[in-house]
Amino acid sequence: MSACCVFLGEALGDYHFGESHPFGPHRYAAFKQEFDRRQLAKAVHIMAPAVASTQELALFHTPDYIDTVQRMSQSGAGYLDGGDTPARRGIFAAAARVVGTTLAAVTAVIDGECRRAFVPVAGLHHARRDAAAGFCVFNDCGVAIEALRQHHGLRRVLYVDIDAHHGDGVFYSFDDDPDLFIVDFHEDGRYLYPGTGRENETGRGEAAGSKLNVPLPPDAGDALALSRWEKCEDFIRRVQPEFILLQCGADSVAGDPITHLRLSVAFHGEIAARLGRLADELCAGRVVAMGGGGYNLDNLALAWNNVIEGLLESKTE
Ligand SMILES: [Zn+2]
Repeated sequence: MSACCVFLGEALGDYHFGESHPFGPHRYAAFKQEFDRRQLAKAVHIMAPAVASTQELALFHTPDYIDTVQRMSQSGAGYLDGGDTPARRGIFAAAARVVGTTLAAVTAVIDGECRRAFVPVAGLHHARRDAAAGFCVFNDCGVAIEALRQHHGLRRVLYVDIDAHHGDGVFYSFDDDPDLFIVDFHEDGRYLYPGTGRENETGRGEAAGSKLNVPLPPDAGDALALSRWEKCEDFIRRVQPEFILLQCGADSVAGDPITHLRLSVAFHGEIAARLGRLADELCAGRVVAMGGGGYNLDNLALAWNNVIEGLLESKTE
Protein backbone atom coordinates (compact mmCIF):
# COMPACT_ATOMS: atom_id res chain seq x y z
CA MET A 1 0.00 0.00 0.00
CA SER A 2 1.38 3.42 -0.82
CA ALA A 3 1.50 6.04 1.89
CA CYS A 4 -0.39 8.81 0.11
CA CYS A 5 -2.29 9.27 -3.16
CA VAL A 6 -2.33 12.74 -4.72
CA PHE A 7 -4.84 13.55 -7.47
CA LEU A 8 -3.29 15.55 -10.29
CA GLY A 9 -4.72 16.80 -13.60
CA GLU A 10 -5.11 20.17 -15.29
CA ALA A 11 -8.84 19.49 -15.55
CA LEU A 12 -9.21 19.99 -11.79
CA GLY A 13 -8.17 23.60 -12.40
CA ASP A 14 -11.27 24.10 -14.60
CA TYR A 15 -13.20 24.73 -11.39
CA HIS A 16 -12.88 28.52 -11.12
CA PHE A 17 -14.88 31.69 -11.73
CA GLY A 18 -12.61 33.72 -14.01
CA GLU A 19 -9.65 36.09 -13.74
CA SER A 20 -11.45 38.85 -11.83
CA HIS A 21 -12.91 36.50 -9.18
CA PRO A 22 -10.97 35.59 -5.98
CA PHE A 23 -11.51 31.88 -6.84
CA GLY A 24 -9.51 32.36 -10.03
CA PRO A 25 -8.03 30.07 -12.70
CA HIS A 26 -4.44 29.80 -11.42
CA ARG A 27 -4.94 27.96 -8.12
CA TYR A 28 -4.26 24.43 -9.38
CA ALA A 29 -1.19 25.52 -11.38
CA ALA A 30 0.26 27.32 -8.35
CA PHE A 31 -0.14 24.17 -6.25
CA LYS A 32 1.34 21.93 -8.97
CA GLN A 33 4.38 24.16 -9.51
CA GLU A 34 5.32 23.88 -5.81
CA PHE A 35 4.54 20.12 -5.82
CA ASP A 36 7.02 19.75 -8.71
CA ARG A 37 9.61 22.01 -7.07
CA ARG A 38 9.60 19.74 -3.98
CA GLN A 39 9.73 16.63 -6.21
CA LEU A 40 6.85 15.10 -4.27
CA ALA A 41 5.94 12.82 -7.20
CA LYS A 42 8.76 10.55 -6.00
CA ALA A 43 7.10 10.14 -2.60
CA VAL A 44 3.40 9.75 -3.46
CA HIS A 45 1.16 7.68 -5.72
CA ILE A 46 -0.35 9.91 -8.42
CA MET A 47 -3.95 9.35 -9.51
CA ALA A 48 -6.17 11.02 -12.12
CA PRO A 49 -9.34 13.09 -11.55
CA ALA A 50 -12.77 11.45 -12.01
CA VAL A 51 -16.22 12.89 -12.76
CA ALA A 52 -19.17 12.26 -10.43
CA SER A 53 -22.38 10.92 -11.96
CA THR A 54 -25.72 12.61 -11.32
CA GLN A 55 -26.58 9.69 -9.01
CA GLU A 56 -23.43 10.35 -7.00
CA LEU A 57 -24.19 14.08 -6.72
CA ALA A 58 -27.68 13.08 -5.52
CA LEU A 59 -26.18 11.25 -2.54
CA PHE A 60 -26.09 14.74 -0.96
CA HIS A 61 -27.79 17.24 -3.31
CA THR A 62 -31.47 17.51 -4.25
CA PRO A 63 -32.42 16.55 -7.84
CA ASP A 64 -33.97 20.00 -8.41
CA TYR A 65 -30.75 21.74 -7.45
CA ILE A 66 -28.64 19.45 -9.67
CA ASP A 67 -30.99 20.27 -12.60
CA THR A 68 -30.73 24.00 -11.89
CA VAL A 69 -26.92 23.93 -11.95
CA GLN A 70 -26.94 21.89 -15.18
CA ARG A 71 -29.30 24.38 -16.86
CA MET A 72 -27.53 27.54 -15.68
CA SER A 73 -24.13 26.10 -16.56
CA GLN A 74 -25.26 25.88 -20.20
CA SER A 75 -26.25 29.55 -20.40
CA GLY A 76 -23.35 30.78 -18.26
CA ALA A 77 -25.29 33.87 -17.13
CA GLY A 78 -26.16 35.15 -13.67
CA TYR A 79 -25.33 33.73 -10.26
CA LEU A 80 -26.06 30.39 -8.62
CA ASP A 81 -26.50 32.21 -5.30
CA GLY A 82 -27.02 35.81 -4.17
CA GLY A 83 -23.90 37.11 -5.94
CA ASP A 84 -20.79 35.20 -4.80
CA THR A 85 -20.91 32.16 -7.09
CA PRO A 86 -21.27 32.93 -10.83
CA ALA A 87 -22.98 30.42 -13.13
CA ARG A 88 -19.92 30.22 -15.37
CA ARG A 89 -20.43 28.22 -18.59
CA GLY A 90 -19.26 24.65 -17.99
CA ILE A 91 -19.26 24.97 -14.20
CA PHE A 92 -21.51 21.89 -13.86
CA ALA A 93 -18.89 19.58 -15.39
CA ALA A 94 -16.04 21.25 -13.47
CA ALA A 95 -17.89 20.93 -10.15
CA ALA A 96 -18.88 17.32 -10.88
CA ARG A 97 -15.19 16.59 -11.51
CA VAL A 98 -14.22 17.99 -8.11
CA VAL A 99 -16.83 15.76 -6.45
CA GLY A 100 -15.85 12.70 -8.50
CA THR A 101 -12.20 13.17 -7.58
CA THR A 102 -12.94 13.41 -3.86
CA LEU A 103 -15.05 10.25 -4.18
CA ALA A 104 -12.17 8.51 -5.98
CA ALA A 105 -9.87 9.53 -3.12
CA VAL A 106 -12.26 8.05 -0.56
CA THR A 107 -12.49 4.81 -2.57
CA ALA A 108 -8.71 4.55 -2.96
CA VAL A 109 -8.27 4.83 0.81
CA ILE A 110 -11.15 2.45 1.64
CA ASP A 111 -9.84 -0.11 -0.88
CA GLY A 112 -6.38 0.08 0.66
CA GLU A 113 -4.72 1.44 -2.47
CA CYS A 114 -3.21 4.13 -0.25
CA ARG A 115 -3.31 5.04 3.41
CA ARG A 116 -4.14 8.71 2.90
CA ALA A 117 -5.06 10.96 -0.05
CA PHE A 118 -4.94 14.63 -1.05
CA VAL A 119 -7.20 16.37 -3.58
CA PRO A 120 -6.29 19.96 -4.57
CA VAL A 121 -9.11 22.46 -5.36
CA ALA A 122 -11.70 20.22 -3.57
CA GLY A 123 -13.28 20.91 -0.16
CA LEU A 124 -16.21 23.07 -1.32
CA HIS A 125 -17.72 23.25 2.15
CA HIS A 126 -20.30 26.04 1.80
CA ALA A 127 -22.70 24.43 -0.72
CA ARG A 128 -26.00 23.25 0.79
CA ARG A 129 -28.04 20.25 -0.27
CA ASP A 130 -30.24 22.56 -2.38
CA ALA A 131 -28.12 25.67 -2.98
CA ALA A 132 -24.74 27.07 -3.99
CA ALA A 133 -22.91 29.39 -1.59
CA GLY A 134 -19.54 31.09 -1.14
CA PHE A 135 -17.84 29.93 -4.41
CA CYS A 136 -19.07 26.35 -3.79
CA VAL A 137 -21.37 24.70 -6.35
CA PHE A 138 -21.41 21.06 -5.20
CA ASN A 139 -20.28 20.09 -1.71
CA ASP A 140 -17.77 17.28 -2.30
CA CYS A 141 -17.25 16.97 1.49
CA GLY A 142 -20.97 16.30 1.98
CA VAL A 143 -21.12 13.85 -0.95
CA ALA A 144 -18.07 12.03 0.45
CA ILE A 145 -19.71 11.70 3.89
CA GLU A 146 -22.87 10.26 2.31
CA ALA A 147 -20.80 7.88 0.14
CA LEU A 148 -18.88 6.64 3.20
CA ARG A 149 -22.21 5.77 4.78
CA GLN A 150 -24.27 4.60 1.80
CA HIS A 151 -21.59 2.94 -0.38
CA HIS A 152 -18.91 1.90 2.07
CA GLY A 153 -20.99 1.00 5.14
CA LEU A 154 -19.23 3.28 7.65
CA ARG A 155 -21.09 5.41 10.22
CA ARG A 156 -18.68 7.30 12.44
CA VAL A 157 -16.99 9.92 10.27
CA LEU A 158 -14.87 12.84 11.47
CA TYR A 159 -14.77 16.05 9.42
CA VAL A 160 -12.00 18.51 10.35
CA ASP A 161 -12.00 21.98 8.76
CA ILE A 162 -9.17 24.54 9.16
CA ASP A 163 -10.33 26.91 6.39
CA ALA A 164 -10.77 30.52 7.62
CA HIS A 165 -14.50 30.30 6.86
CA HIS A 166 -16.90 28.17 8.90
CA GLY A 167 -17.85 24.99 7.00
CA ASP A 168 -21.54 25.82 7.25
CA GLY A 169 -22.65 23.64 4.29
CA VAL A 170 -21.32 20.56 6.06
CA PHE A 171 -22.22 21.67 9.61
CA TYR A 172 -25.89 22.46 9.03
CA SER A 173 -26.47 19.52 6.67
CA PHE A 174 -25.45 17.13 9.45
CA ASP A 175 -26.22 19.11 12.61
CA ASP A 176 -28.77 16.51 13.78
CA ASP A 177 -26.50 13.55 12.91
CA PRO A 178 -24.90 12.10 16.07
CA ASP A 179 -22.33 10.04 14.12
CA LEU A 180 -20.90 12.88 12.01
CA PHE A 181 -18.25 14.48 14.19
CA ILE A 182 -16.94 17.93 13.34
CA VAL A 183 -13.91 19.94 14.45
CA ASP A 184 -14.10 23.33 12.71
CA PHE A 185 -11.47 26.06 13.20
CA HIS A 186 -12.48 29.35 11.62
CA GLU A 187 -12.33 33.11 11.97
CA ASP A 188 -15.04 34.27 14.38
CA GLY A 189 -18.29 34.74 12.44
CA ARG A 190 -18.70 38.27 13.76
CA TYR A 191 -15.87 39.32 11.44
CA LEU A 192 -16.13 36.97 8.43
CA TYR A 193 -18.51 35.20 6.04
CA PRO A 194 -20.66 33.13 6.61
CA GLY A 195 -21.11 34.53 10.14
CA THR A 196 -21.87 31.13 11.74
CA GLY A 197 -19.99 28.57 13.87
CA ARG A 198 -20.41 29.79 17.44
CA GLU A 199 -18.74 27.75 20.14
CA ASN A 200 -22.07 26.88 21.78
CA GLU A 201 -23.33 25.21 18.56
CA THR A 202 -22.45 21.55 19.13
CA GLY A 203 -25.23 19.77 17.18
CA ARG A 204 -29.02 19.52 17.56
CA GLY A 205 -31.12 17.02 19.50
CA GLU A 206 -29.41 13.67 19.97
CA ALA A 207 -26.42 15.05 18.02
CA ALA A 208 -25.64 17.55 20.81
CA GLY A 209 -21.95 17.31 21.66
CA SER A 210 -20.90 15.74 18.34
CA LYS A 211 -19.52 18.98 16.84
CA LEU A 212 -16.73 21.26 18.03
CA ASN A 213 -16.66 24.82 16.69
CA VAL A 214 -13.43 26.71 17.39
CA PRO A 215 -13.90 30.37 16.41
CA LEU A 216 -10.61 32.30 16.41
CA PRO A 217 -10.27 36.08 16.75
CA PRO A 218 -9.04 37.97 13.67
CA ASP A 219 -5.21 38.10 13.78
CA ALA A 220 -4.99 34.74 15.65
CA GLY A 221 -1.66 33.01 14.98
CA ASP A 222 -0.28 29.47 15.31
CA ALA A 223 0.29 29.60 19.09
CA LEU A 224 -3.35 30.31 19.88
CA ALA A 225 -4.68 27.88 17.25
CA LEU A 226 -2.40 25.04 18.40
CA SER A 227 -3.36 25.61 22.04
CA ARG A 228 -7.02 25.19 21.01
CA TRP A 229 -6.12 22.03 19.02
CA GLU A 230 -5.03 20.10 22.14
CA LYS A 231 -8.63 19.84 23.40
CA CYS A 232 -9.71 18.65 19.95
CA GLU A 233 -7.39 15.62 20.11
CA ASP A 234 -9.14 14.47 23.30
CA PHE A 235 -12.49 14.87 21.51
CA ILE A 236 -11.25 12.89 18.47
CA ARG A 237 -9.98 10.03 20.62
CA ARG A 238 -13.27 9.96 22.50
CA VAL A 239 -15.50 9.79 19.39
CA GLN A 240 -13.43 7.01 17.73
CA PRO A 241 -13.97 7.85 14.06
CA GLU A 242 -13.76 5.18 11.35
CA PHE A 243 -12.58 7.68 8.71
CA ILE A 244 -11.21 11.25 8.75
CA LEU A 245 -11.84 14.01 6.20
CA LEU A 246 -9.72 17.20 6.37
CA GLN A 247 -10.67 20.44 4.64
CA CYS A 248 -7.35 22.35 4.75
CA GLY A 249 -8.27 25.75 3.28
CA ALA A 250 -5.22 28.00 3.01
CA ASP A 251 -7.20 31.21 3.49
CA SER A 252 -6.49 30.97 7.23
CA VAL A 253 -2.82 31.80 6.51
CA ALA A 254 -1.54 35.39 7.02
CA GLY A 255 -1.73 37.46 3.84
CA ASP A 256 -4.96 36.07 2.41
CA PRO A 257 -6.78 38.91 0.59
CA ILE A 258 -10.28 38.11 1.90
CA THR A 259 -9.77 36.95 5.53
CA HIS A 260 -7.93 38.19 8.64
CA LEU A 261 -6.38 35.18 10.40
CA ARG A 262 -2.59 35.07 10.69
CA LEU A 263 -1.67 31.39 10.82
CA SER A 264 1.55 30.26 9.13
CA VAL A 265 1.74 27.63 6.37
CA ALA A 266 3.46 25.38 8.94
CA PHE A 267 0.17 25.11 10.85
CA HIS A 268 -1.41 23.23 7.95
CA GLY A 269 1.43 20.69 7.82
CA GLU A 270 1.34 20.28 11.59
CA ILE A 271 -2.41 19.55 11.68
CA ALA A 272 -2.06 17.07 8.78
CA ALA A 273 0.74 15.23 10.59
CA ARG A 274 -1.17 15.16 13.88
CA LEU A 275 -4.35 13.93 12.18
CA GLY A 276 -2.32 11.27 10.37
CA ARG A 277 -0.99 10.00 13.69
CA LEU A 278 -4.50 10.03 15.21
CA ALA A 279 -5.81 8.15 12.15
CA ASP A 280 -3.06 5.51 12.58
CA GLU A 281 -4.16 5.10 16.18
CA LEU A 282 -7.93 5.10 15.56
CA CYS A 283 -8.90 4.15 12.01
CA ALA A 284 -6.18 2.30 10.08
CA GLY A 285 -4.60 5.59 9.02
CA ARG A 286 -7.50 6.67 6.80
CA VAL A 287 -7.41 10.41 5.99
CA VAL A 288 -8.60 12.20 2.85
CA ALA A 289 -7.52 15.85 2.71
CA MET A 290 -9.25 18.38 0.42
CA GLY A 291 -7.55 21.67 -0.50
CA GLY A 292 -10.35 24.11 0.36
CA GLY A 293 -10.14 27.90 0.09
CA GLY A 294 -7.06 30.08 -0.25
CA TYR A 295 -6.85 33.21 -2.39
CA ASN A 296 -3.18 34.08 -2.00
CA LEU A 297 -1.50 31.73 -4.50
CA ASP A 298 1.83 31.52 -2.66
CA ASN A 299 0.09 30.60 0.61
CA LEU A 300 -2.06 28.00 -1.11
CA ALA A 301 0.92 26.38 -2.85
CA LEU A 302 2.95 26.16 0.37
CA ALA A 303 0.13 25.16 2.73
CA TRP A 304 -1.31 22.40 0.51
CA ASN A 305 2.12 20.86 -0.15
CA ASN A 306 2.86 21.07 3.59
CA VAL A 307 -0.34 19.06 4.13
CA ILE A 308 0.93 16.35 1.75
CA GLU A 309 4.27 16.28 3.58
CA GLY A 310 2.44 16.17 6.93
CA LEU A 311 0.35 13.21 5.76
CA LEU A 312 3.54 11.45 4.58
CA GLU A 313 5.47 12.26 7.75
CA SER A 314 3.20 10.32 10.08
CA LYS A 315 4.04 6.64 10.21
CA THR A 316 3.12 4.22 7.41
CA GLU A 317 3.02 0.84 9.15
ZN1 LIG B 1 -12.51 29.80 3.06
